[in-house]
Amino acid sequence: MREIKHFINGAYVGSASGRTFADRSPTDNRQIAVVHEAGRDEVDAAVRAARAALAGPWGRLTVAERVERLYAVADGINARFDEFLEAECLDTGKPYSLARHVDIPRGAANFKVFADMVKNVATESFTMATPDGAGALNYALRRPKGVIGVISPWNLPLLLMTWKVGPALACGNTVVVKPSEETPLTTALLGEVMNAAGIPAGVYNVIHGFGPESAGAFLTEHPGVDAITFTGETRTGTAIMKAAAVGVRDVSFELGGKNPAVVFADCDFDAAIEGTLRSAFSNCGQVCLGTERVYVERPLFERFVAALKEGAERLRPGRPDDPQTTLGPLVSQEHRAKVLGYYAKAVEQGATVVTGGEPFVMEGPLAEGCWVKPTIWTGLADDAACVREEIFGPCCHVRPFDSEEEAVRLANDTPYGLAAAVWTGNLGRAHRMAATLDAGIVWINSWFLRDLRTPFGGSKQSGIGREGGVHSLEFYTELKNVCVKL
Ligand code: NAD
Repeated sequence: MREIKHFINGAYVGSASGRTFADRSPTDNRQIAVVHEAGRDEVDAAVRAARAALAGPWGRLTVAERVERLYAVADGINARFDEFLEAECLDTGKPYSLARHVDIPRGAANFKVFADMVKNVATESFTMATPDGAGALNYALRRPKGVIGVISPWNLPLLLMTWKVGPALACGNTVVVKPSEETPLTTALLGEVMNAAGIPAGVYNVIHGFGPESAGAFLTEHPGVDAITFTGETRTGTAIMKAAAVGVRDVSFELGGKNPAVVFADCDFDAAIEGTLRSAFSNCGQVCLGTERVYVERPLFERFVAALKEGAERLRPGRPDDPQTTLGPLVSQEHRAKVLGYYAKAVEQGATVVTGGEPFVMEGPLAEGCWVKPTIWTGLADDAACVREEIFGPCCHVRPFDSEEEAVRLANDTPYGLAAAVWTGNLGRAHRMAATLDAGIVWINSWFLRDLRTPFGGSKQSGIGREGGVHSLEFYTELKNVCVKL
C-alpha cells in the first residue's frame, strides 16, 4: 500500500498528529493509499518553507535560469510518463487512452508554455513631458506576488494543478498546493520531479487533507499566503473568498458551469454529434467545460437525439488499462450518489430518458466501482433541477429551439458563464452567437480545442479572473511603475 506524505521544503514528511485517511480507486473501491492529513502545524511549516524560499536561491535566479529549470520539470514528467499515467488513472479511474493524450502531456506542457511566456513578455513604458522640458520616463516592473496557495480539484488532477503551479513558478513565486483529497497521487509524485529538476527546496510544497476544518481551510486562512488560486465548486469558492478577505488577499477562481451547446440545422451534422458526445461524456462528464444543456434547432432535433443516443450507447465502461475502455467511473461513491440523485430527480420532474438513467451493473471487482450509464434526457422544463444545476456527470438534456434569439435566451438563462459551443455553417451567425453568449470561452464548430496562450476563465458565477498566456501575469505578479525624472 502506498503511503502519501506531505512534501515540505524538498522532503516528504508525515503528519505529527499521525492522522491519515484512505485513498480509494473509483474503479473497484479498493484502497490504494494511506494519505497523511495535514494539521495547522504542517500547513504552517509548508507556508514558512515557501516564504523562506522566496528569499533563497530561487529568488536570485535569472529568468533564463528559471526557464531552464521549468523545462527540466516538464522533461522530468515526460521521463516518468508511465508512472504519472498509472497514478492518475488509479486515482480517477479514467481510461489510459484519455490520460495519455490529455492529462499527462498537458501536465508537462504547462511548465513549458509558461516558461516561454515569461521569457518573451515585454513590459510597458511611457515617456511624459514635464514643465522643465526634460521629461520623465515611466516603465513597469513585474515582481512575483509571493507565496501562492493552490487548491485544486479531482477531475483533471495533474493538468489543473500544473496549470496554476506552472505560471506561479515561471513568475518567480513559491507555492503550497492542496490537491483534492480524492486524488493526491500525482501532486505528491511531482515533488520527486521538482527535486530532480533542481527546483530549490521550499519552492513547491504539498499538503494533503480535506477542505473545511482541514488542510484546505488552514491554508486559505494562513496569513503567510499572499494570494490564492482555486479551481473547484462555486460554493467552495465562496468559502475561500471569505477566508481571503482577511488580509485582503487576491484570488483567482475557476469555478462551476452549466455549459450549453447550440446546434443549428445548417451545421456539419457528424462533427456536431462527435463534438457533443465528447463534451457531454468524456472523463465520465467530469469536465468543467463539458456540455450539460444541448439546444438543437427543431428541424434537426429528432435526428440529433437519435444519433447522440447511439453514440452514448457505444461507450464502453471498463478498467483504465483496457484499450477497449472508452468510459471510466465517477470519482467516488459520494459523487456517484449525487449523480444518481439527479438521475432520479430528472424522472420525478417529467424527463423522457432517451438512454441511461441508471447505474452500470459491472462484474467481478468492478461491481464495487462508481459506474453510471451515460444519460440523455429530453422534455424537462427550463427550470428543472437537471437543467439549472451543475451535475458533473455523464449526462445532458436536449431541447429544441425555433430561432436564434430563442437559442441565445435559453443558453444564457443560467447563473454560470464558463463555456459554450456553437455548431453552425453560417459564419455571420457564428460570430453573432459568440458575441452574445455569456461565457468566458466560446467554441465554434469545436470543443476543448485549447491554445494555452489564450485567456481562460468564466464569467458570472463561473469564476473570477483569467489565466493562460500573458493573462496569468495579472494574477501571479505585482506590477510596479517606476517613474524616472530625466
Ligand atoms: P470542490 O470545490 O469540492 O473541491 C476543490 C478543492 O477545494 C479540493 O481540494 C477541496 O479539498 C478544497 N476545498 C473544499 N472546501 C474547502 C474550503 N472550505 N477551504 C479550502 N479548500 C476547500 O470541487 P471538486 O468537487 O473537487 O471539483 C469539481 C468542481 O470543480 C466542479 O464544480 C467543476 O465545475 C469545478 N471545476 C472548474 C474548472 C474551471 O476551470 N472552471 C475546472 C475543473 C473543475
